[in-house]
Amino acid sequence: MTGRVVVLGGGCTGPLLGLLLARRGCEVHLYERRADARRVPLPAGRSINLALAARGIAALERAGLMESVRPLLVPMRGRRVHDDGGGTRFLPYGQRPHELLWAVARADLNHVLVDAAEAAGVTFHFEHACRGADFARRQIEIEDLAAGLRFEIPLAPVIAADGSGSALRQAMVAAGLATAREETLAHRYKELTIPAGPGAAHRLAPDALHIWPRGGYMLIALPNVDGTFTATLFLPAEGAGASFAALESVGAAHALFAREFPDALALMPDFDAQYAANPVGRMSTVYAAPWHVAGDALLVGDAAHAIVPFHGQGMNCAFEDCVVLDDLLEANAGWAARFARFDALRREDTAAIARMAIDNYTEMRDTVRDPRFALQKALSLELERRRPDRFIPRYSMVMFHAEIPYAEAERRGAVQAELLEAATRGCTTLADVDLPALIAEVDARLAPITPPGG
Ligand SMILES: Cc1cc2nc3c(=O)[nH]c(=O)nc-3n(C[C@H](O)[C@H](O)[C@H](O)COP(=O)(O)OP(=O)(O)OC[C@H]3O[C@@H](n4cnc5c(N)ncnc54)[C@H](O)[C@@H]3O)c2cc1C
Repeated sequence: MTGRVVVLGGGCTGPLLGLLLARRGCEVHLYERRADARRVPLPAGRSINLALAARGIAALERAGLMESVRPLLVPMRGRRVHDDGGGTRFLPYGQRPHELLWAVARADLNHVLVDAAEAAGVTFHFEHACRGADFARRQIEIEDLAAGLRFEIPLAPVIAADGSGSALRQAMVAAGLATAREETLAHRYKELTIPAGPGAAHRLAPDALHIWPRGGYMLIALPNVDGTFTATLFLPAEGAGASFAALESVGAAHALFAREFPDALALMPDFDAQYAANPVGRMSTVYAAPWHVAGDALLVGDAAHAIVPFHGQGMNCAFEDCVVLDDLLEANAGWAARFARFDALRREDTAAIARMAIDNYTEMRDTVRDPRFALQKALSLELERRRPDRFIPRYSMVMFHAEIPYAEAERRGAVQAELLEAATRGCTTLADVDLPALIAEVDARLAPITPPGG
């Protein structure tokens, strides 16, 4: 394959996609609005670290990058739940040694991706923002931010990985070539850093994602390789109780932390300064259709289907987009056919993960506190041990099984939830559950999972 391809956005998806395109012989030009993040640090408060899971890892392996990425990763075996009373409980994510999530700093991962893409031949144009597109004249407008100049480049083909506020998506909508809706959650987030202890030691158990669920809101913390944790506070934007509107003053926020998250507060001596300085972020789900304009333009990653962060899947899903597109590059087809096929292949799965991500917010901030939740989790793992080809917890299908499409995970997950709910009604321990009857139900209602092509 040869020819010039324009990629917009040098965040998570753009460099990985650029690299895969370059490996297939394309001449790739990548335009990124920000300065080169290898030289200028990313602005604070933009999800400093992320959970990498099986789908993301599969894509990084496809690109041959896991060796470079591995030293950046901190394994997380499960959730460490910090209860109201100050006690903690550990809920494992999975039950096999490889069923882990990996915390990675966004900036470090980005450096590896950009370096590798550059080495593969991608030309990066930093501080160049897409300002619009003229689909009739097949031109994209680019602004060189350092020079303050605007110019046009030929459109075809352009792949936009320019994030949830995508300029190319907006241009498609303005030209009447797509419709898009952005649903912003009524909750917001703020990131805070828990500093490392002496000798760069982690001050909380480093092998877990820590959660302080408090019903309508929560605090979480993910470990970093340097011994720090990135904590994220999720609160409603408005409202009289715990909300960002009600906690505008540092004093009010400090009081909430002293009451609800005293163990976390004790680890942040500079809490007041951080709370005052760090921005509040929004979270949205993007619904757009179609994602392509003939063979001229395609939206991928958050530009096409941004989701809320509660399943830790936005980047993983965007990386999976790159694998799907890379497979399509192998076929001897034109860009129009490839883009249309990508749209058809990804729509159902990305809609499913968008719904599951919203669901997971309720689970993390609320359901996780319910003793029945722990019982159902334990029962799920027991069923997976007994019927590994039929019953895999939904969370595990999403996080650890890249071979199970999101939509399939959602469908099977709904049946499983029904079975678990019925089987644990009135039960307090696993011994109360009628396991033989439940296994018979599993066999009757859940067909064995067939591996792709199997
Ligand atoms: C709080 C939070 C926590 C998250 N946690 C996780 C997690 O644990 N795991 C996970 O998988 N996902 C997580 N995500 C989601 C993840 O961050 C996104 O899904 C992922 O970054 C999408 O990658 P992208 O390349 O599509 O967009 P981005 O990473 O947003 O990259 C877009 C790039 O385009 C550039 N750009 C924007 N506009 C223009 C323009 N006009 N011209 C040129 N360039 C432009 C931007 O500067 C940026 O570099 C989280 C998100 C948030 C907000």
